[in-house]
Amino acid sequence: KDVTSVNRLERVRRDFITNVSHELRTPVTIARANAETLMNGAIKDEVYGPRFLKAIHRNMERMAQLIDDLLNLSRIESGREKIELEFVSVDRLLHQVQLLMEDHARNKQHRLTFHNTHPVVFCDEKALERILTNFIDNAIKYCPSGSLIQLNVSSRKNRVRFSVTDNGPGISAKHLARIFERFYRVDKGRSRDIGGTGLGLSIVKNLAAAMHGKVGADSIEGEGTTFWCEFPAGPRKSHQNIPETDLPFG
Ligand code: ADP
Repeated sequence: KDVTSVNRLERVRRDFITNVSHELRTPVTIARANAETLMNGAIKDEVYGPRFLKAIHRNMERMAQLIDDLLNLSRIESGREKIELEFVSVDRLLHQVQLLMEDHARNKQHRLTFHNTHPVVFCDEKALERILTNFIDNAIKYCPSGSLIQLNVSSRKNRVRFSVTDNGPGISAKHLARIFERFYRVDKGRSRDIGGTGLGLSIVKNLAAAMHGKVGADSIEGEGTTFWCEFPAGPRKSHQNIPETDLPFG
């Protein structure tokens, strides 16, 4: 039994290295081809020259994003990422998320709404903020413009649940089961075109685990998707460590 689990780990590691190599290779190949075209004379072309240059830049950005995500993932998985659990005001957290995401949502004519019923959650504020902005960012990216994106907070049995629900294209059950895996995308080409790395949700999953939380997704194709995460609740009454003046919604 031990041998098979060692073999399995070994295979997962090998697959990961293969995936990383492929993902890095694509932008390098495209950038190199564009650079060669420039060197072969296109640099003197007033119309096409700048286009090849822009393609190089776009692909280097893609690569930088991929490397950033890989480094983040490795920091979180190895426990090097500093995660400090404390009581956090949910109102303050939502206010922060709203500030970070509202312009982005508005640019695609999405409506972004917030509904909260619980005052305090036990988590690392920055890490939970990253999870929620990732869910919202995905909804913004994968829903047609003019969609509705709702962030709801509810509590039950000493847990606080954050859910981001959209009325976008949805994800079929087959894909949904694998969506939190590293590099897994429903549509590789589309994800790449909009700057995705396929690592966002695996970073989310690792962050949640580091905070003793859970994540998941439910979806109905053609109707929309809900991404959720759950963490231990803080006390029902506002915690004394949170100054009232810091609460944006009173
Ligand atoms: P990516 O960098 O590709 O966005 P993620 O790990 O964040 O990687 O997401 C994995 C895949 O899940 C995406 O490629 C996309 O196909 C799918 N996905 C994520 N969020 C949504 C959503 N709100 N609606 C539909 N599909 C989604």
